[in-house]
Amino acid sequence: MNLLLIGPPGAGKGTQAARLKEMLGVPHLSAGDMLRDEVKRATPLGRAAREGMDRGELVPDDLVGEMVEQRLSGPECSRGFVLDGYPRNLVQADRLAGFLARWGRPLDRVLALRVPVEELLRRITGRRVCGGCGAAYHLTSRPPGREGVCDACSGALLQRKDDREEVVRERLRVYEDQTRPLLDFYGRSRLLAEVDGSGSLDEVTGRISAVLEEAGR
Ligand code: AMP
Repeated sequence: MNLLLIGPPGAGKGTQAARLKEMLGVPHLSAGDMLRDEVKRATPLGRAAREGMDRGELVPDDLVGEMVEQRLSGPECSRGFVLDGYPRNLVQADRLAGFLARWGRPLDRVLALRVPVEELLRRITGRRVCGGCGAAYHLTSRPPGREGVCDACSGALLQRKDDREEVVRERLRVYEDQTRPLLDFYGRSRLLAEVDGSGSLDEVTGRISAVLEEAGR
């Protein structure tokens, strides 16, 4: 199954995609994770992307497109994938459609997660990530045992630079402006299913599973 997840920052795309990876037995590709990895390794792409990411802006289409195309073309994605964070605008959606068509691997389903803005802000600004092992926490809904310390590896818990409120507001603006039009784009090709992304992780996973079962997997 070739699956795409769309949603504003904080909608739970990454978390649900990780669960879908297990359920469907296909790799999970997150454009944001790939870019953060490039930044961490200070590659040419990472150096070009870093400042824009810190401000909540989109990284130039060509750079991200090449990175995603390269990963999707690999043998590990030949039996399906869960893609999140790409495409984020219509230019990227066209590029994705182009290379998937060339490889004869069209998208089977596009899931759009819907979450109210106040809930998105609460989720993102409270998010903390372990600098050591990458485990995810939330100040109120998933606090660590000891404040600021990872339960798994005792690493320090950090806030992503782009999870600060002013940057989150810019990311939400970019989503409304550039990414939301994708809902019409995929709605026209009947690939789209909108899913209520509020509530607990299990509730959202249950709704997603129901949509995929309906589509006959
Ligand atoms: P995310 O983890 O998906 O919220 O992405 C974090 C940041 O990475 C975004 O705010 C953008 O700066 C950048 N980014 C991720 N995906 C894309 C994309 N498809 N196009 C451009 N920039 C992206």
